[in-house]
Amino acid sequence: VTAGGGSSATADVAYGIDIGGTKVLGVALGSAGQVLVEARVSTPTGPAHGDAVGREVARAVVDVVAQLDAAPEVAAAQPGSPGLAGAPPIGIGVPGMVDREGGLRFSPNLPQAHGVDWHVLLSEQMPRRRFLIENDANLAALAEHRLGAGRGFDHVLMVTLGTGIGGALIVDGRLRVGGHGYAGEIGHMVVDPAGPPCPCGRRGCWERYASGGGLGLLAREAAMAGRLPAVVALTGGDPESVRGEDVTAAALAGDGDARRVVEQVGWWVGFGLANLACVLDPQRIVLGGGLLAAGELWLDAARAAYAELVEGGPTREPVDIVPAAMGERAGAVGAAVAARQGGLW
Ligand SMILES: [Zn+2]
Repeated sequence: VTAGGGSSATADVAYGIDIGGTKVLGVALGSAGQVLVEARVSTPTGPAHGDAVGREVARAVVDVVAQLDAAPEVAAAQPGSPGLAGAPPIGIGVPGMVDREGGLRFSPNLPQAHGVDWHVLLSEQMPRRRFLIENDANLAALAEHRLGAGRGFDHVLMVTLGTGIGGALIVDGRLRVGGHGYAGEIGHMVVDPAGPPCPCGRRGCWERYASGGGLGLLAREAAMAGRLPAVVALTGGDPESVRGEDVTAAALAGDGDARRVVEQVGWWVGFGLANLACVLDPQRIVLGGGLLAAGELWLDAARAAYAELVEGGPTREPVDIVPAAMGERAGAVGAAVAARQGGLW
């Protein structure tokens, strides 16, 4: 989904922008794939819905673009002041189901933006800039496949474990987006039809258990069942106020009860990956997102669960389950890669 005129032949620098639940993160990427400079602003929050919130977010995107335009690192990488026609192309990643025209059809974790046509709103605010819009998880996978932990593999499953779960599939060396652009929405595979409600409107989705949000949920469940007495005492005595971060901190400090909750999240991660392997048979699985920042305690549990649950077990070739190389920048870097090449492939 591209807009604006001009040729991309002069794209020494490309911008990538990742619209997240808490921040809008932008990077300027040099011609060798290096991050020249980064810019970020908080994602606007408030009571606005639909196009009103879309406009606020679009203004935040324009703000990040202006910061990148003004950065001396960008000017230095584009000698000779190329003017607007040679201005860096912009890739923009948004969470949720993005259709092939850049409209946001459905976004459980950004519900206030349902139905927003990013393409129209951003064209209004940046009428003369070239940009494209894609799903954020697909862009993160593109970055990891080209420049990061999935480099050199033709069959990669990328799973981003944040507030929810984002997924993306590299098959035969190419990102696959499906018939309508929605492939890889793996966080909403139902793993327990009687499980807890999900923002998508159903129950027991995988991301209710195996994400940063899932860690918080399992932690509160354990706290209310009396299985986290030390953590509850540390957080003021109210089991309902226990957060995922509290349990991670306690687990890292050696609290065995907390450690069991974190390992439980890891089990759920491995469980889902084992099911996905039945469909995709990946050579490598790359995990990104905020759950990694919360420590890797759960990662060994995920690897063990995967090995135990995957069909064929030890008779299969082992699959490395590795952390993403680019951390929180993967989506923005992938957006810049897509902007430079004019699409996802
Ligand atoms: Zn769901």
